[in-house]
Amino acid sequence: MSAFRKAALRVALAALVAGAATGAVVQGVVYLARGGASLEPWWWLASIASGLGGGLAAGLVVRRAFGARLATLAKALDGRAADQDYLRRLPEMGDDEVGRIAASFNRVLARVTTLQGDVIDGQRQLAAKERELALAEELAISQRELELRLRERALLFEVLRESASSHDLDAVLDVLVTRIGPALRANRLAVLLTTPGDGLEVRAAWGFDGSPVGRTIATPSRGPWALDHGAMVVPDVTRIPRAVDFWDELPRTGSFAAIPIRHVDEEIGMLVLTRPEEDPLNEMTAHYLEAVADQAALAIHNAQLVKQLEELATHDELTGLPNRRLFERRLDRALAYSDRYGQELSVLALDIDHFKHLNDTHGHAAGDAALVALAATLEEHTREVDTVARVGGEELWVLLPQTPLRAAADVAEKLRAEVARLAVKGAADQPLGRFSVSVGVAARRAGEARAELLARADAALYEAKRAGRDRVAVAREERAAAAGG
Ligand code: GH3
Ligand code: MG
Ligand code: MG
Repeated sequence: MSAFRKAALRVALAALVAGAATGAVVQGVVYLARGGASLEPWWWLASIASGLGGGLAAGLVVRRAFGARLATLAKALDGRAADQDYLRRLPEMGDDEVGRIAASFNRVLARVTTLQGDVIDGQRQLAAKERELALAEELAISQRELELRLRERALLFEVLRESASSHDLDAVLDVLVTRIGPALRANRLAVLLTTPGDGLEVRAAWGFDGSPVGRTIATPSRGPWALDHGAMVVPDVTRIPRAVDFWDELPRTGSFAAIPIRHVDEEIGMLVLTRPEEDPLNEMTAHYLEAVADQAALAIHNAQLVKQLEELATHDELTGLPNRRLFERRLDRALAYSDRYGQELSVLALDIDHFKHLNDTHGHAAGDAALVALAATLEEHTREVDTVARVGGEELWVLLPQTPLRAAADVAEKLRAEVARLAVKGAADQPLGRFSVSVGVAARRAGEARAELLARADAALYEAKRAGRDRVAVAREERAAAAGG
């Protein structure tokens, strides 16, 4: 039973009781006024009927006044709560308590709607904030990556500039491996240069257990490891151990890369590096490594060019022997040593006998071939520390450091005999029946200048010529003593 029905029933009952009580009071009063006279039964009936009627009327009034509106109110409350429909409002219900309840219910609904909107807005803001955070994080990561790359490049630029500033090839290579190795987080790095044959020579290395510098290996020319395929990166050597077969110094773990070093279209060599397992090389590094190799190629090529120029400036093209300039430089150094440490040194002056004759009878080419053979023989029969130089057309000088006169004369005689044995073209047609040289020997006197020493050797040479050629003449000490004062 609903609340308003209970209320109506209570009102009706109260009206009934009130009617009965009114009847009793009226009867009591009449009884007292009439002196014990009893009331007529219709009085009772009328009293009860009026009480009933009043009760019913009161019940109807209560129902009309509150019942329908309260029912609407209750239904609306139930419905809104169940459907979460907070947008539909209650109709206007007057300005009594029920009306005020309905109005305040509408206000609550309005508040709920606003709150709901706030919640949705909040959720939207939260999602936007989350997206923003994710983007910011991504940005920070790529910025860190960028900074790392820039730092790497700056370092490499520095290293390559440093290496390019030197024109000594070995120094360039040394700077390359010792500076680039750590910059690339490698644990081994080597630069191999192509040799005149079809191989590669390890010219500089960093991080290897024993230095592999000087070792030669065959150029890897087959499969994906061929140099003309560009940079090769093997992120996991354990999966492709064959990748490093070409050079047994390389470990079978971690990652590995081989990058050709090319200048224009010329293959100069190869850059080889390994990285430990926990920090493997990947394909992205390959482009970077190629850029490094390009820069290294420039530095190496420059140093090689300078070396070639130097070689040209200090060596004879036909025989490959040092020229006069280099001979004099070495002689000066030997003289300085001699002054400082009191070491003896000697020089030989050689001249081919009747060379004009050989050229005239067998041609210039035969003369050139004889010169080349002579140079090779002289080089072969002198020590590493000696210098054999071609200082004129068919004139050669030999510097013999730490060699006194007697020993120098022995060397001169040995060389003369070796030359006389040379079977060069036209040798038999020479006036002496063989290809031969005359040699002058001079040992340096204490404090003697370069020019004086060489002049004495030259004088001895012409003494040998005058004496019949194909012989050795020693500069006379007394003449040197006289010249020196
Ligand atoms: P001598 O025994 O007196 O030294 O007689 P020679 O003929 O050797 O001396 P001369 O100075 O008269 O001649 C030197 C010759 O050396 C002249 C030139 O034809 C030759 N000659 C110089 N340089 C070269 C060269 O680079 N190649 C060739 N094939 N011949 C050269
Ligand atoms: Mg001559
Ligand atoms: Mg000559």
